[in-house]
Amino acid sequence: MSEFNLIRRHFTRSTPSALLGVGDDCALLQVSQGNVLAVSSDMLVSGTHFFADADPYLLGHKTLAVNLSDLAAMGATPRWATLALSLPSVDETWLAQFSAGFFALAQHYQVDLVGGDTTRGALNLCVTIMGEVPVGQALRRDGAKVGDEIWVSGKLGDAALALAHLQGNVQLSDADFAAVAAALHQPQPRVALGLALRGLAHSAIDISDGLLADLGHILAASQVGAQLEFAAIPTSSVLQNKSSLPPFFQQCVLAGGDDYELCFTAAVSQHTELLRLASALNLPLTCIGKVVAGTGCVVSDSAGNPIQLTRGGYEHF
Ligand code: ADP
Ligand code: MG
Repeated sequence: MSEFNLIRRHFTRSTPSALLGVGDDCALLQVSQGNVLAVSSDMLVSGTHFFADADPYLLGHKTLAVNLSDLAAMGATPRWATLALSLPSVDETWLAQFSAGFFALAQHYQVDLVGGDTTRGALNLCVTIMGEVPVGQALRRDGAKVGDEIWVSGKLGDAALALAHLQGNVQLSDADFAAVAAALHQPQPRVALGLALRGLAHSAIDISDGLLADLGHILAASQVGAQLEFAAIPTSSVLQNKSSLPPFFQQCVLAGGDDYELCFTAAVSQHTELLRLASALNLPLTCIGKVVAGTGCVVSDSAGNPIQLTRGGYEHF
């Protein structure tokens, strides 16, 4: 099959939000009045971000989900995406499933795929996502203030636990693995939360490289420090069962990658409003600590002693 037939068959859908979509040298996009464009790229590389035999439908979902997560962290409304693919060969079944997973999520968030690039090479999936946010309302990393509470959505560490199981570093029962595998394979971008946090949170980031690493970016950008209570960090019952292995457990919770939850800071006066938001969104929001003057992050165990980690978060180099 030619490259153009491949694009037509698997990656061309209607693009009602674009002035011009797939098929020309460029797409043409109009940002709504009073908004700015929020743009981000995330690349998934076979062998680094996923196993080569990963389920293609779930991979299509995750390729878009990790990008939507960046828009969520900015408080931006998703609008458009481009998809650059490098494929070792043309596998029709794989492509059909990959694009089905991709478009199912795209449709859910009304994201139009407006272009991309398709080449032969090692399996590599790169999305550029575009969204819009009213001028001056984006949730940035540099807005945390001393005295803010630090919050996270959902539960942390399940994706790291599922990955540890797949890598043979820990043994889970089939039922336990099934319970945590969705966090790794089918993360849900917190788009609605990001939108609701506009005007409420002072800073936000999505947790893709581990809580401490990502919160560390907020702290550095905002020139503040943080104190966290380890026991306050929300985890699943499956992961809590691993608390008999303290270093492993702490590593999953504090430094596990691929959570795609949001970490944000907000004034103490917003506490009840945030709890109300959690029930409105049917998504746990948990206060895990506070922003303090200084630098760095101290995590205390239940006895009040600082927890030391061997590795802070995922880094490629
Ligand atoms: P050019 O040679 O001008 O870069 P291409 O031949 O690479 O254009 O692509 C033709 C059209 O198909 C362009 O509009 C491009 O954006 C789109 N396209 C290419 N690959 C993909 C893809 N994987 N998903 C969506 N659109 C794609
Ligand atoms: Mg091209």
